[in-house]
Amino acid sequence: MRITLIYDDEVRKKDLIASHGFSCLVEAHGKMILFDTGANGSILLHNMERLSIDPTLVEEVFISHAHGDHIGGLSDFLRVNPVKVYVPQSCSRPRGAEVIKVSKPLKLHENIFSTGELRGIEQSLAVKTEKGLVVVVGCSHPGVRNILKAASKFGEPYAIVGGLHGFKEFDLLKDLGLVCPCHCTYFKSKIRDLYPEKCIVGEAGVIITL
Ligand SMILES: [Zn+2]
Ligand SMILES: [Zn+2]
Repeated sequence: MRITLIYDDEVRKKDLIASHGFSCLVEAHGKMILFDTGANGSILLHNMERLSIDPTLVEEVFISHAHGDHIGGLSDFLRVNPVKVYVPQSCSRPRGAEVIKVSKPLKLHENIFSTGELRGIEQSLAVKTEKGLVVVVGCSHPGVRNILKAASKFGEPYAIVGGLHGFKEFDLLKDLGLVCPCHCTYFKSKIRDLYPEKCIVGEAGVIITL
C-alpha cells in the first residue's frame, strides 16, 4: 500500500504548491483512490503533475467532509476525470457526477472501508494491510478516539494519516505503529517529539509505503 500526500498546508518539495487543505492518493489492493481534493483544483492538478500522478488513472474519489479545504478541488478534478465520488451523507455536493452518500460503515472494496459518517460531519477511510488497519482522515472533526473506535470494527488500527484538528489525546497514539499528522494538526512537533520512531510529519510530497 502506498499513500502520496498531494495537497497540504506545507510542502516537502519546492516545486509543489503549499495551500491550506488536504488531499492524498491512496493506492491499495489494486485500487487508486483520491482522498479529498484540497481547496483549489488548479493547485491539486499542479501538484499531481509534479508528483507524476496521472489524474485519469484515479478510479474513485473519497471525500471526508464538505469543508472547502477538502472538497474545493473536486469539480475541477471531475472535469478531468468524472469518476465515482463517495461523500458523507450530510454533504450536499457534488451534483451530476456519480455520487454515493455514506451514512453507515461501508465496504467499498475487499479490504477497503468507510467508517461511515461520524458526528454528522465526517467519514474516514480504513484500509486493511498485513500490519493492521491504516486509517486516513480529513480533519478528524469527530475526534480521533471516535474515529479509531469506529474503524476498529474492520481490524486493529496500525496507522493514522491526515489532519488531526485540535487533537491532544496523545496517549491514543501509543498503540499505533505509525502516525502521519498533516494539514490542520496543531501539535505536529509535539507528536513527533513524543513518538519520534513512528511519526512522519505530513507535507505534500511525502510518500508513505506500508
Ligand atoms: Zn474540516
Ligand atoms: Zn481541513
